[in-house]
Amino acid sequence: MYTKHYYPFQVIPVRGGSINDAYGIQYGKDRFFCKINDRDTLPDLFRKEAKGLEYISMTKKIRVPAIIDVLYTETHQIFLMEWIDTTTPTGLSWEKLALQLAGLHNCTFPNFGWFEDNYMGNMEQRNQQMSTWSNFFIECRLVPQMKIGYDQDLLEKKDLLGLQRLFNRLPDIYPHTQPQLVHGDLWHGNILFDLKGDPVLIDPAIHYGHAAADLGLTQLFGGVDSRFYDVYTSEADVAPNYREQWEIANLYPLLMHLNLFGKSYYSGIADTIHSFV
Ligand code: ADP
Repeated sequence: MYTKHYYPFQVIPVRGGSINDAYGIQYGKDRFFCKINDRDTLPDLFRKEAKGLEYISMTKKIRVPAIIDVLYTETHQIFLMEWIDTTTPTGLSWEKLALQLAGLHNCTFPNFGWFEDNYMGNMEQRNQQMSTWSNFFIECRLVPQMKIGYDQDLLEKKDLLGLQRLFNRLPDIYPHTQPQLVHGDLWHGNILFDLKGDPVLIDPAIHYGHAAADLGLTQLFGGVDSRFYDVYTSEADVAPNYREQWEIANLYPLLMHLNLFGKSYYSGIADTIHSFV
């Protein structure tokens, strides 16, 4: 039987999340991180996220919060995980992120894709297994978002034609590479640094894909410390045209942002199409 000890208990709302309600749960000297969402709007969001975190953890390449549990009630899904105390990163922290991320990207698999469909933020993403990055990127990433954009009158026929012309160039822009394990939603809000200055990744949209997806996303909203890029590009096996690859990979999050937040993301998409076709 448990001995009865009563410790102070406190629930502290955490701000900064866009999709879920988030809380720090303080129990005695322990603190946990808790996210809550309704059960059916984004089915299995947390179970899929937990699977992604566990998978990254198993590679031992980069730290992620330890999972405590994913719980369901009749109306809600609840994610309990380790609380990460964070600090401002130093140059060394960014260098560590570059090295550890390059390590993650060195984990390869025979096919592009994942074992189930999952989410990027609150958008579903298809993960059918395919043998080339170009086909996977087109069929599972770009086309579903293009359809949503067109149906919402955010994209016109000429945009779809431009994107289709770009599809023909993708096999040249992305020569064949092994499917690489990627975080999949690596904007800077999903990179925490613990009190030792070591990176901790949260909110993965995990799949076997192309490292350009992670690197592109780090740059999409202004970029991170230059040491990160210096170390990554000298450590990882990047293609000579890696800048092009990163820019084109960002068409996926840009289309997603267009569909979620509207026309202000259109010019980024149009510019990318025009520079490549
Ligand atoms: P959402 O999935 O709703 O976007 P996030 O997972 O991004 O929510 O988390 C919301 C906030 O909580 C962010 O500010 C993030 O930095 C912080 N956070 C996320 N995970 C942890 C954790 N394990 N420990 C401490 N803070 C966290």
